[in-house]
Amino acid sequence: MVREVLIYPDPALKQKSKPVAKVDDQVKKLVKDMVDTLYAEEGVGLAAVQVGVSRRVLITDTSSKQEGERLRVFINPELVSAEGRTKYQEGCLSLPGEAEEIERFARVTVRALDEKGQPFEIDADGLLAIALQHEMDHLDGVLFVDRLSSVKRGLIRKRMLKVIEEKKAALRARKPAEPRAGL
Ligand SMILES: [Zn+2]
Repeated sequence: MVREVLIYPDPALKQKSKPVAKVDDQVKKLVKDMVDTLYAEEGVGLAAVQVGVSRRVLITDTSSKQEGERLRVFINPELVSAEGRTKYQEGCLSLPGEAEEIERFARVTVRALDEKGQPFEIDADGLLAIALQHEMDHLDGVLFVDRLSSVKRGLIRKRMLKVIEEKKAALRARKPAEPRAGL
């Protein structure tokens, strides 16, 4: 089931997500809904908090831009190590239409549980490394706008309030919202 993605500055996006105690049927259903939502929105990554569930769950699928990649599920992800610096023009499903160059680690090692609750560790580079850092930020209530100047953030906030108003108007008129790409 495709869930509604919260748009900045929805206060729920500022919450620090809580760890998953057990990968049970409820968590599996959440992951399935997140996958449906990621593909419906044509994103490359999604954190549970973006669909209003404040749990430490994120998914990535960077295969459209990174050869050999696939859908990946990270539950209770932890950054084990990181090195190098890189810049990338990032988007975000919670910031439709916005993109800003953000500097992050070039390579990361992340430890997590998969969708079956099995622990694994992955060394990531390229877009996957960026997506992982972006989505892990979401789990701590941080969006890429928080890494920009307050002036830039203020302008984006104004545009997003307009997007939220337009979405509400579209819902009232029962027109489907435009699909948006992002992380
Ligand atoms: Zn995002």
